Amino acid sequence: MTERKPSIGFIGLGIMGAPMARNLMAAGYELIVLDVVQAPMGALVAEGATAGRTPAQVAADTDVLVTMLPDSPQVEEVYLGSNGAYEALREGWLTIDMSSIAPGTARTLAERASAAGADALDAPVSGGDKGAIAGTLSVMVGGEEAAFERALPMLEVMGATIVHCGPAGAGQVVKVCNQVVVGVVIEAVSEALVLGAKAGVDPARIADVLQGGLAATKVLEMRRDNFLSGSFEPGFRIELHLKDLKNAFELARDTDVVLPAAAIVEQFMRAAVVNGRGDLDHSGLVTMLEDLAGARVSDATGR
Ligand code: NAD
Repeated sequence: MTERKPSIGFIGLGIMGAPMARNLMAAGYELIVLDVVQAPMGALVAEGATAGRTPAQVAADTDVLVTMLPDSPQVEEVYLGSNGAYEALREGWLTIDMSSIAPGTARTLAERASAAGADALDAPVSGGDKGAIAGTLSVMVGGEEAAFERALPMLEVMGATIVHCGPAGAGQVVKVCNQVVVGVVIEAVSEALVLGAKAGVDPARIADVLQGGLAATKVLEMRRDNFLSGSFEPGFRIELHLKDLKNAFELARDTDVVLPAAAIVEQFMRAAVVNGRGDLDHSGLVTMLEDLAGARVSDATGR
């Protein structure tokens, strides 16, 4: 006899959460879904999910809670706020927060859960909206080994690479490391393309050559069309990447580490947000370098 799949409460149905929830439903899990915005809830309910009312109710009426929210304040509100999920905290319960948040917040949630005999995993992801839709995300998990094993069948529906990184908070530590690399690489690719374009070479040819050698990068592979066309529909919004760098600097301060290259990227991202570009995909950081150089990569493409 096959074991009954646990029911899942899924809170946060944005660019990432909605397709992740959809994949869980397609794999046969029963879902109760919740978002502060009605539209994505309506879409998933039309596909067979049940609409939740409050985080506490969703948590009480399901076996496992998965959350995919913007940042630490929203996660704190959903878990610890009034009508929050932890009002249903109970022995044996499992929560999986897949949002990218401060490692310290993840540790606090895990400590509170552990004191009640429950498990709270931090399991942020990389791989973007395309990975969320395809179910091929990389998932970096912090928490107890037994809880990780319990979560694995669900994580395998949403991701292709799933790594247990260590105790509570370790997943979030790896996520900020990931975001430092991605941010610095976006900035490096942007500098190179703007330089080459203004020097009169077709950026498409630059990209072709870079991708064949040591400079090859997933950033240019996955965002090539954005850089060359100058269209920056997200994807992953600059505003969210700036939030990840804020978490990186918080961790760096706590651990006495300096992040000089990330600091420059953080300044450009902040300037982009201040200039009304926070909703662009993070590859849109190139527009800040373009402004400083007085040249557009897209104008030089195909020339
Ligand atoms: P998003 O803004 O599209 O989605 C967040 C969702 O949470 C929204 O639908 C919002 O309405 C909902 N929400 C906010 N506060 C809420 C609350 N209190 N209760 C219920 N719902 C609430 O963001 P996203 O792009 O889906 O990203 C989600 C998380 O995943 C972020 O931490 C982000 O950094 C991370 N992430 C995103 C990507 C990406 O490519 N978009 C990739 C990897 C990781």
